This record gives sequence, structure tokens and C-alpha cells, in this order.
Amino acid sequence: MAVDMSTRLDRVLGAKTAKVMAEQLALHTVRDLLRHYPRKYARRGEMTKLEDLQVGDRVTVLAQVRKVSTRKMRNRPGSLTEVTVGDGANSMQLVFFNRKHAGLREGAWGLFAGTVGEYRKSKQFAHPDCHLMTGDDDEDWARALIPLYPATRDVSSWVIQRSVKLLLNHSGNLADLVDDPLPEEIRARHGLLSLPAALLDIHRPTTMDDVERASHRLKWDEAITLQLTLAGRRKAAALEPGIARPRRPGGLLDAVDAALPFALTEGQREVGEELAAELAREQPMHRLLQGEVGSGKTVVALRAMAQVVDAGGQAALLAPTEVLAAQHARGIRALLGPLGRAGELDGDPAGTRVTLLTGSLKAAARRAALAEVAEGHAGIVVGTHALLQETVEFADLGLVVVDEQHRFGVEQRDALRAKGNRPPHVLVMTATPIPRTVAMTVYGDLETSTLRQLPSGRGGVASSVVPVREKPNWLDRAWERLREEVAAGRQAYVVCPRIGEDAGAEEEPDDADGAPAAESEDRRPPLAVLDVAEALREGPLAGLRLEVLHGRMTPEDKEARMRGFAAGEVDVLVATTVVEVGVDVPNATVMVVMDADRFGVSQLHQLRGRVARGKHQGLCLLVSEAATSSATGQRLAAVAATSDGFELARLDLETRREGDVLGAAQSGRRSGVRMLSLLEDEELIAEARTEATDLLAGDRGLADFPGLAMEVAALATDERAEYLEKA
Ligand code: ADP
Ligand code: MG
Repeated sequence: MAVDMSTRLDRVLGAKTAKVMAEQLALHTVRDLLRHYPRKYARRGEMTKLEDLQVGDRVTVLAQVRKVSTRKMRNRPGSLTEVTVGDGANSMQLVFFNRKHAGLREGAWGLFAGTVGEYRKSKQFAHPDCHLMTGDDDEDWARALIPLYPATRDVSSWVIQRSVKLLLNHSGNLADLVDDPLPEEIRARHGLLSLPAALLDIHRPTTMDDVERASHRLKWDEAITLQLTLAGRRKAAALEPGIARPRRPGGLLDAVDAALPFALTEGQREVGEELAAELAREQPMHRLLQGEVGSGKTVVALRAMAQVVDAGGQAALLAPTEVLAAQHARGIRALLGPLGRAGELDGDPAGTRVTLLTGSLKAAARRAALAEVAEGHAGIVVGTHALLQETVEFADLGLVVVDEQHRFGVEQRDALRAKGNRPPHVLVMTATPIPRTVAMTVYGDLETSTLRQLPSGRGGVASSVVPVREKPNWLDRAWERLREEVAAGRQAYVVCPRIGEDAGAEEEPDDADGAPAAESEDRRPPLAVLDVAEALREGPLAGLRLEVLHGRMTPEDKEARMRGFAAGEVDVLVATTVVEVGVDVPNATVMVVMDADRFGVSQLHQLRGRVARGKHQGLCLLVSEAATSSATGQRLAAVAATSDGFELARLDLETRREGDVLGAAQSGRRSGVRMLSLLEDEELIAEARTEATDLLAGDRGLADFPGLAMEVAALATDERAEYLEKA
């Protein structure tokens, strides 16, 4: 039978094995199985470190049997076999009821797979799967390195190992089975193994050096496929010309500059020039502007929008929440003064209109707003995702600004882009700093600019963790500090992970992802805004003007409440993460985050940015029940210890990636990137990006590289595309 990469596994492995592999690991073809790489390697004669195992983990370990004992059970019929594997502190029990595994005798080596449990303080596997190493007839056991595969309950690591072996041995010469998609030149240029050689070494290595070389090559496959996809996107976008929107003196931009109550920072000026030059070109700009919370991105965007209006076009600013959209509209109107009210009695006819378009507008107001946008009277349109709806038509959309990008995917950006007669320029802004490699992969279709400097005169934020379990009186001290600030005329936020009262609405509707999943089922529910507000009102913050803000309030109420807070009519705002993004109240100096461990690293950093906006020093207190020595406690400590957003973004990526890897390994979910690490493979990704761009430089696309074309097509159809979306 001729077998190739696309042969279905049932034809090679038999229907039964193929079925569980398909169901549990999403492995369908020979290619899928060969690309299912070992997670790690056990070394013959060297036991797995059993003390590192966590209760609840599903793992495969290599260990030697030390003791076997069988006894009758006292309380019910039947027998119990206990097997001790490992030695000394590095040991665990295997427990079997009414069953004794034939080969389990002292001195035997085996692979044992199961879910780690605990009994009387020591680790155990109940009914593990065992694969005993026989020594003479087991060829795999003779090897120095034993591959351990991501496995599931019904597809054990050794079943995978055996199946892979079958494939590898099948053709005698793996090169007949496996076509190498990477062109020879690229392989030579980067000193990469051929694909057959790499596959052989990753599945059956002799040394860890083999593994190293093989995985380097296999990472290349992933990196080049991703980069080709992105380069293709960039190229397609570049082929469609937009409209040049050059600067025009004496217009809105000059008026904005004259009205600014501060001087631009160096960075704002530089990025401004960069944008101005790109907007003046026909080729649509695709730029990601990243800058710390409070670095002043809004004004950079506003100046770009003004330039486009001066050139006769419209600009849309897309915000992730209604609160933020309303705030932007208000801020821009205030800055433009009469220039933002063209057509009104006191408006300047030389100006334009700033139109707010959100989902909660009443029918009549919405019609009026839509008309202003469609007829082109609104030069600046501010809104939420309501702007993406089909009913919204622009007269001449020239620039789309997306604020706080991490909530918008590529598709949404595309939807807005499609609203122009010709593709508009696009500026995406984010305060969550993005490591360079992520920018090159996840955001690979955007060029990036960075604002590194904060406007001067900022007080900065001091952060600390309040470990309530260990230091309960620190929380009292926290509320005292808050009262002191209020007494000095400042304001405060108290942030909680949940709204409360109604169990049906646990999650804040526009919550960001990234918060780590709950670690165990029996944790109490997260603290809720409504409960905390109540308790504070009656307890430690009695007498202060305290209000709540959360996603279940109507947009009008939210807006009114935010406005009241901004006007200083409220001392303390108890809120969910609705305050996370972009809200700007310079007089607020304290933020207390309750159950801080329930938020992601980037989210905490964003939140704390809310109290770094004015000239006074801000204070951020991260309240948590997590032990300071736990992983969670240390994550919080790291957030408190650094204000370097780039470092925190890295930390965030690390914690999240770990979850992704484990999740994928256990559920068997497919993911395009198995080997590649965005954190560690920066150089490789950069090289792959260059190669990808070169490969696509001509007119023939990938026509001369059918192997690569197939990989790219597979990435597109796979749910791997989802990976690109996942910021
Ligand atoms: P972010 O980058 O987080 O969106 P904003 O654009 O909201 O930051 O700016 C934060 C605050 O800093 C705003 O109050 C804004 O008016 C102010 N700001 C922006 N640029 C400057 C500057 N060059 N000098 C002083 N204040 C500035
Ligand atoms: Mg902002």
C-alpha cells in the first residue's frame, strides 16, 4: 500500500486506534501523527522527579518498581495491590483494586500514566496505565531516550510511540514518505535538517543534541508558515491603493495644535511625523501604535484624524466600551471647541462635527448620527463596535483608529476597513506592550511605532501586594491610606472581579481575557462590586461619597456616573474592569484591587494606569488571599515590583502560554504552533519573516513552492487561524 503524508491513519494503524486518536488528539492523517511531537524525553535508568508532580496533573512517568504488596481489603470484599515506585523521597504508590499487573515485580522499570492523586500526604496513582520495559525484546527500551508524548486517557504515550514507529519503519526510507516543503536554499542558508531527518530525530533521538537540531528545524516549519500567511496579507493589502491624505496648513490640525494645553512630548512629535508622512501616501497605512498607559496616544490619534479631515476625508475612532467612546467624544469636542461644532449656531463653519455613535443611542438620535456620517458632515466619528454594523455608511472614510486593540480581532478591523470606498488608513493603538516577536507574528500585518516616554510631570504609581491571609491588618491600613488621600482632596477606585447579586451575570460583559483560570473548584466566588460597596459604606469607608460602576448599568447611567466621578462629586468608585481601559480622571490617585489574583498581569497593569494620570503620586494596592510564596503570589509581587510594561507583557505571555500548552496537550486540541516559542525564538521568527517576504516578492506567489503553499493552506483552514486572532 502506498502511504504518504495525507494517508488516513485508519489505513495504517487500524480503525480502532485511528478512531481514538482522531477523537482525543485530533490526529487524522500520517502527517498529523508525524507532527505530534514528544513533549519530553525520559532517560533510561533515570527516574522522573516524582516530587515535582502536582496533584491533578495527568502525567506519564518513568520509574522503577521497589515494592509490591497485595492484601485483602478490610471493609469490603476483594484485594488491594500497592506498588511503590521510585525511591526515598522520590517515590509514589500505585494502587490497584482486585487486579494485579502481571509484570509488576521488584526491579522492573516501566512507564506509568495516570492522574496524580494524594492519599495520606503521599502521591499516588489509582489504576495507572502501565507499560513495563522488558529489556530484551523491547527495542525502544534499549534506546537511551524514551519519548513521552502528549497523551490522553485512551491514547497512551506508548501507543503513540508504537504507532509512530510503525510509520517510521513502514517505508524503510522516510524520505519517500515525507516531502520537504522547505526549499533547499533556505535549508542550506540556515543550516536546517531535512524534514525526514528532523522527524526521525524528534521521534527517535539518540542524544538531546539530536532533539535540539530537529526541533530547530521543526520550529522553522511553523515560523515560515505563519510568516507566509502574514506576508501574504500584507501584500494583498498593499496591492489595493487607498487615498492620499496629505497635510493642509490652516486647517483643523493647526487648530488642534494651537488648542493643546501642553507641549507634545518628543515621542508624540516623532510618531506624529511618521503618521503624517504615511497618511500622505496612497498606500494605506497599517500601523500599530503602542505606548504605556498615559503616554498620550489619544492626542497622536487626534492629530492624525485632523489631518485626514483637512484632506477632505472622515476619520473613525473605535473604542472598546461605551464609557470610553463617550469619554473620547467629550474630550475631542472640548479640545476642538467651536471647530467641532460646524453647522451649529456657535460653531465655526471652517470646522467639522464630532459624532458619537454607540449601540445605546435612541432611534431618533441614531438616525441623526447615521445621517451626519453618511452625508459627510461628521469629520470625526467616535463609536464602539456599533460602527461595524452594516447600516453605518461613511461618505468618505479615510482613517480608522482602533483604540486598545486587544479587544479587536483582525476580522473586525477588516470590517471597518471595508467601509471605505477605497481601503482607509488604519491606526491601531494599544497600551498593552507587545514583545517584538508577538508583534511580528500575531500582529505581523502591522508596522509598529512606540511611545516610550510619559509626559513629564507625572507622579507615577507605587504598588504593593496586600496578602490578607498573612497580614490581615494591612487591609485596614489600606482603607486608612485611601481615607487619607480622600482627605487630601484625591479620589479612589476599588476594583472587584464580579458585579454581584445576580448569579446569572457573573462576568463583566466587556471583560478582557487573560485572567488565569480558577485553580480549584472549591474557591469562594470572587468578590463582587455590590457586596464590597455595601461593606465599605457601612465599615471602613463610612462617610465617604461612594458609588458603584459596572457593566450591568445602562450606558446612560455609566456615563453619568463616570462624569460625576470626573467632576469630583464622588470620592470612591467601586467598579468592575469597566475602568480598565483608557478612563482618564487625573485626580484619582488610589486604586485598591480586590481579589487581585483573579486578574491577568496585563489587566492589572492597565488598571493601575488609571491612577497614574495626574501630577500626584498614585498608589495601587493588590489585595489577595493568595500565599505570598505561591506562584500566584509571586506573579502579583512581580506586577507590584515593576512598572515596565514590556517586562510585564512578557510575564503575561509566559503564564498564558503555559496554560495554552497544557490545555492543548490535554484536550488534544490542534494548534498551529507546537514548538515555536514567541518568547524564545525571536531570532528564528525574524529570519523566517525575511525569508517569507522574499519568497512572496515575485508575481508567482508560492507557485514554485507547492509544499509551502500546502502548509499555508492548511494553516488557513485549520482552526489555527484562531491563533492569529488570539492576542
Ligand atoms: P493613553 O496613551 O493611555 O491613551 P491618554 O492619551 O489618555 O493616554 O493621555 C493621558 C493624559 O495625558 C491625558 O490627560 C492627556 O491629556 C495627557 N497628555 C497627553 N499628552 C501630553 C503631553 N505631551 N503633556 C502633558 N499631558 C499630556
Ligand atoms: Mg487611551
